[in-house]
Amino acid sequence: MPNADLTFCPRCAERLEWRGVEYPDVLHPVCTKCGFILWQNVRPSVDALIVRGEAPHVEVLLGRQSAARAHGQWGIPGGFLSVGDRIETALIRECRREMGIEVLIGDLVGAFEAMFYDVPMVDLIYACTIASGEPRAADLIDEVRWFPLGDPPPLALEIERDAMDVLRRKLDVSL
Ligand SMILES: [Zn+2]
Repeated sequence: MPNADLTFCPRCAERLEWRGVEYPDVLHPVCTKCGFILWQNVRPSVDALIVRGEAPHVEVLLGRQSAARAHGQWGIPGGFLSVGDRIETALIRECRREMGIEVLIGDLVGAFEAMFYDVPMVDLIYACTIASGEPRAADLIDEVRWFPLGDPPPLALEIERDAMDVLRRKLDVSL
């Protein structure tokens, strides 16, 4: 949901007003003094579905979350794209940061919509393989483990399970 209660321009602190910018019926907060437009978009994020093995014995690498939000739940490495990020460099960085590994990026598994706190996000989930390094729990994770692609433990985000189902069908991995 866009923040309808925003009042002041983050650049010059003058009052914001909701106005049509591109289309008259699509309103955005616009500064009444300096013209700053506060675009409020869905946030893009990237996640890595790291796999190994051949069908029907494909495994996926998961990390157990140590952060309070999803404590004890399992998930795949990734994160939001920051300004200036590129998809591939962000994916590689997040895998390095969370699991201490270098990954090779493969096919896009899909684009998945979810909520993170109250922020709507579009998560681009890529199939990846390990290029080098032994996975270990690094940032935000307290354990890493391989699971069968068709039988993961409870996951922090439902879309991660959805992505595994898509990849499983694509690789023809039966349950
Ligand atoms: Zn302003």
